[in-house]
Formats: sequence, structure tokens, C-alpha cells
Amino acid sequence: MTAFLKLLARNRLALAGLIVMGLVAGLALVTPILPLADPDVTDTANRFKPPFSEGALLGTDHLGRDLLSRLLHGTRLSLAVGIAAAVVAATLGAAIGIIAGFYGGRTDNVIMRGVDMLMAFPYILLALAIVAALGPGLMNALIAVAAVNIPFFARNIRGITVGIAHKEFVDAARLSGMTDARIILTEVLPNVVPVIVIAMSTTIGWMILETAGLSFLGLGSQPPQADLGSMLGEARSALISNPHTSIVPGAMILIIVMAINLLGDGVRDALDPRLRSGALSRPLPATEVRRKGPVPAHDGEGLLALRDLETRFHVKDRVYKAVGGVSLSVRPGECLGIIGESGSGKSVTALSVMGLVASPPGVITGGAVYYDGQDLIGAPYSTLRRLRGEKVAYIFQDPLATLHPLYTVGDQLIEAIQVHHPVAKSEARARAIDLLKSVRIPNAESRIASYPHEMSGGMRQRVGIAMALANDPDVIIADEPTTALDVTVQAQILAVLDDLRRDRGLAIVFITHDFGVVAQLCDRVAVMYAGRIVEQGRTDEILRAPAHPYTSKLMECVPELGEGRRRLEAIPGLPPLVDRLPDGCAFAERCHRVQPDCRQGELTLEATNDSRKVRCRHPEPITRERAS
Ligand code: ADP
Ligand code: MG
Repeated sequence: MTAFLKLLARNRLALAGLIVMGLVAGLALVTPILPLADPDVTDTANRFKPPFSEGALLGTDHLGRDLLSRLLHGTRLSLAVGIAAAVVAATLGAAIGIIAGFYGGRTDNVIMRGVDMLMAFPYILLALAIVAALGPGLMNALIAVAAVNIPFFARNIRGITVGIAHKEFVDAARLSGMTDARIILTEVLPNVVPVIVIAMSTTIGWMILETAGLSFLGLGSQPPQADLGSMLGEARSALISNPHTSIVPGAMILIIVMAINLLGDGVRDALDPRLRSGALSRPLPATEVRRKGPVPAHDGEGLLALRDLETRFHVKDRVYKAVGGVSLSVRPGECLGIIGESGSGKSVTALSVMGLVASPPGVITGGAVYYDGQDLIGAPYSTLRRLRGEKVAYIFQDPLATLHPLYTVGDQLIEAIQVHHPVAKSEARARAIDLLKSVRIPNAESRIASYPHEMSGGMRQRVGIAMALANDPDVIIADEPTTALDVTVQAQILAVLDDLRRDRGLAIVFITHDFGVVAQLCDRVAVMYAGRIVEQGRTDEILRAPAHPYTSKLMECVPELGEGRRRLEAIPGLPPLVDRLPDGCAFAERCHRVQPDCRQGELTLEATNDSRKVRCRHPEPITRERAS
């Protein structure tokens, strides 16, 4: 609740709306105890007194009634009717929507067709018809306004409920033997309440206007009782001669509706979980770049070369140093592994290459990424967009999340091809089939018409690889592409990738947390910890003799079949938070070889031979031979 208020207060306009509404509602509440003239007592001798005259601050109307008193009493009545109508409409509408959405089928059909019939009439005509049938009066106006707004709530809430009614937690509740009524009350309702509140807060202003409209036409509050609409209606004949009688209630309606709408928008934003981080701004098309130091030069090595890359997240007053100066390079036909625990900065490093880290909060604060000699970090967005997918392509962990559920995989492949190559659809289709064959999807000609959900996880990931290959890129960055798959499928996917780099000379950056995978596929490997590379070198050398204690611990986490009784180790402790990195070595806390000097100063990545680099003051003895 306090978080909600904080978010609301961050939105200036909503806060202004809240304050104004608070004042108006406060005034309306205390109106009966204020020393005001009786709003209904006429005094024709003093009719049409101008504002600020003696004894009548806002003047008097055509019957000499005190306008201030009528305004406050009228506001009280209009607010009460508008809010009551909104509550009634929301309650009934939500109940109808939940029942229709929850039971579905025929119940849904009958209810929603009834709602559709109500919606077929222009709502103001419908309200007029209802009041005409019930007879004029404030209560009947309330009923009419509530009734014409019920369909709006019912439709909204039904849509949300349909989405929730088939979620796993509802199935679980059913399995546990709960009654439908209890499921609706405890599982469904809490999930739709925010939507109801949002819909209400954005329609209350509207309902106040509708009630005022009916009163204006003489169908709502009856004389002498004042509400804002009837005050406007009565003032109509004196609009030119005595405009203040119209302006006073008119201004109040304007203020109330404006304030409620601003507040409603703020409530909607504050309740929307997707906006809860406070990031109301749209993300930039490419990661923001704010490099302070000099741009590191290209040393001519590799097709894709990262030099001292630094990426940070600025979240409120915290700075998360997700990537703290990473240098890597990969040549054509080579596979470079990046390995590290979850949260070590592998994905952010990979995404920074093509400016794909979301901004805000991501900022690239230093370093360079050279593709074919060109610095991508300083490159304009148009260059990045041209290179994305065409020269450097990505494969992500979960293909179900990256493939569009409503298009066939063929359509998505064809789209990927046509983004960069304006070829005819038939040609793109033929190419899509070739691609599916190249990642060894059987029956590619018929599989091309499948939807992602009709495929198995391994198939989907092959489609993901095919999409990455669609434009014949030079570099593929694969971010844990096999983590969601079982081991046999993983082996097949790795074989596909291995063939591709041999046949096409692809450079592959392969991100994983599994040394087993690195051993199968990668020529070289970089070990990351807390946003930095702690060891880098040829895979066979590192596997034979890891130098950094972290590397050797990571290797002990890999089970080996037929290896006998070696204990499977876990690394004790947790990685440090990247917004509070300790002095010295970030791994010192968890290291079995830690010495006092490990916790001081800045550790550098030292070359131990021409291919190997280690960031450690007390590395594992190099002579140590592993048992395997
Ligand atoms: P992994 O090695 O598992 O791929 P990531 O690169 O995803 O790790 O994350 C690196 C670090 O960056 C983590 O500590 C994570 O908490 C932080 N991080 C990632 N995204 C955000 C974000 N949007 N806001 C703040 N911190 C983030
Ligand atoms: Mg990751």
C-alpha cells in the first residue's frame, strides 16, 4: 500500500489530481456543518446578485438562492450519485464478467450476447429510455447511469477472467477439491480486483458527467434539490445576462472530472505491475552509451572483439556493475565459451555487443566492441539495426518465449529473411525450408507450417538456430541455448552448431554454466565472475589444469559418468552483489586458497603464457594434474 502511494506520488499530475479531489471530497463531506445559507430558500428580491456581494460570496441565482451553498450541496450530491453509480456498475459488471469468463461455454455465450445487446444502443439514449420508463428522479438517474455502464465492466473483466480461469494455480485449486464459489473468491477475484479498480477510477469522472447530463435535461434531481447538472440546467436561460450562475457549477464539474481523470490515470499506472519499477518511459531502441574514458583501440585481433566493455544498471540511486571491463575476441570458425554462475554478467555482456541491453536502466559506460574493425558501441542506431541479425545473430535460452505463438515457424523465418533481403515470398520460403534442413529438422517441407507450440523443445531450439542463420551471419552469440533441453537433445544441438561453424566458418560465442558443454564445443573459454573475466585460455589447457580457484570449483560441479565415487561439489556461499563489490578479489569470500592480500587493491588479468590469462594472486599450482 505504501509502495502504491509512493508510485502514485511520483506522478506529478496524479498527485495534483489526488490533492484537488481530496479537497473537493473533504468540502462535500463537511458541507452540512458549514455555516451556509439554506440552499433551497428562495429570496426573489435578491435574485442574480453578482459574486462577492454582501452575504453571498458566489452571488445568487434566478430565485435568489445562495450559489455557494447550492454549489457545495450540489457537489456533494453529484459526487455521491456518481460514485454510487460507479460502485454499482463495477460490482454487477464484474460479477457478470467473472461468471461468464469462469464458466465459459454456453453460460458465457448467453451472458455476453445479452451484454452485446445492451451495447448495441448508444448509451445516452439507453439511459434516457431507462429514466423515461422509471420516471424522472435522482435515484432513477443513478440506476440508468449504472445500468448503461455495466456492459463496459462486464466485457473488461470477462476478458481478464478467461485468461486466469485456465492458469495452473486455478487447476491446482480445483484438484485440491475447492468449490467453484471458493475458487472464484480466493483465486480469481484477487487477480481481477486491480483491473476493477483501474476501470472504476477511469470511469467515475465519466459517470459524474452522465448523471449531470441527465439532471441538466431535468431527468435527474428535481427542484428545488440542487446537483451540478440541474444547477447548469436552471442557469441556461440566464447564460448571457448572468453568466456567473452557469460558470460556478460548470467550473466545478470541470475541476472534478479533470482531477478524477488525472488521478485515475495515475492509479492505473501505479497498479500496473509492468510499470511498477517506475520505468514509465519507453526503452530506447539501443542501449544508452555514456563513455567517459578514452575509447580503447582495436588491436587487430578477431572478427568480433570486446575491449574493456563496461555495462551498468542505474536503478534509482544504486549502480549495478553488471559488466566490469571485459575483453574478449573470437575469430571466424572459432568457438569461444563464456562460463560462469547465474548472475555473473554473461547475458549482459552478450547483449551489450549489439546494444540490446534495455535502457533505462542499462548504460554502457566504457570500452568498445569491434566488429570487422568498426566500433559498434559508438555506432549510430541505423548501423546497429543493419548489423543485427545480418552479421551478428543471437540464439536465446527459451525458444518458446522468443518465437511468436500466433505465427507458424515458416512465417517467422520468412519474415527474418525479408527484413534484410527484399526477396519474393516464394524464394524466402524455399530458403526457409533449406534452413530448417540445415538444422536437421526432418520433414522440413511440412514442418514449416507448424506453430511453435506444436513442436518439442529441441525442435523449437533448432528453429531458433535456423532463424539466427537466416541471413548468413558471421557471428552467432548463443546465450545458454541448451539449458532448457535434456541432455540427448543438447548433444544434437551442439552437433548442429559445431557443423555450422566448420562448414560456414561461423564465429560462435557460446554462453553456458556447464563445463561439460564447453569441453564438447569450445576452442577457448573465458570464465566470468561478478562481471569480470577471472580466467581465459584454451579449453584443453584449462580443463587439464585450471589456474583460478573459481574455475577449478566450477569444474568440480560437473558430474562425470563412470567416474566412480568422486563427490559432486557445490561452491559454498553466493556471488557478491554487483552494486557492492568488495575490495580486491570478488571471489575471496568463497575461495579455499584465500590469503589476506586477496582482499586489497585491484587485481589485474595477468598473462601466464601466450594463450592463458588469470586474475588471481594465488592461483592453483600449475603442475597439478586432474584425475580425468
Ligand atoms: P548471467 O551471467 O546469469 O547471464 P546476467 O548477465 O543476466 O547474468 O546479469 C548480470 C547482473 O546484472 C546480475 O547481477 C543482475 O542482477 C544484473 N542485472 C541484470 N539485468 C538487470 C536490470 N534490468 N536491472 C538491474 N540489474 C540487472
Ligand atoms: Mg543469462
